[in-house]
Amino acid sequence: MENCLFCKIAKKEIQAAVIYENDYVLAFNDISPQAPVHILIIPKIHISTPADINPENSSEAGRLVETAAAIAKDMGLEGYRLVMNCNEIAGQSVFHLHCHMLAGREMKWPPG
Ligand code: AMP
Ligand code: ZN
Repeated sequence: MENCLFCKIAKKEIQAAVIYENDYVLAFNDISPQAPVHILIIPKIHISTPADINPENSSEAGRLVETAAAIAKDMGLEGYRLVMNCNEIAGQSVFHLHCHMLAGREMKWPPG
């Protein structure tokens, strides 16, 4: 999609620190890390928000979680937190589906 930051990163029109990539997903470091490990995992196709997941495209969401598991195994992470913000009120600022993968410090619950 035009003028979508993460579509541009997926197409390599904008640089990012890529951690993992396959035909369907791209994982790269968040530019403003909130934990020692803060990776964003995105589908290469444009989906605006988690609310746009449906039976036709839900495999894309599954791949994000699967990718996080593979990265965690590769990095030897003991645990990690996955976050998907949906819409502005929940903190979403980039409207291309993404999963935040946070690790490397103790995580508090409930979140703020
Ligand atoms: P959200 O607020 O859930 O939409 O998350 C968007 C995330 O994208 C934020 O954590 C930003 O720090 C991150 N971000 C914004 N621009 C870039 C960029 N060019 N490269 C990497 N991460 C970015
Ligand atoms: Zn996009």
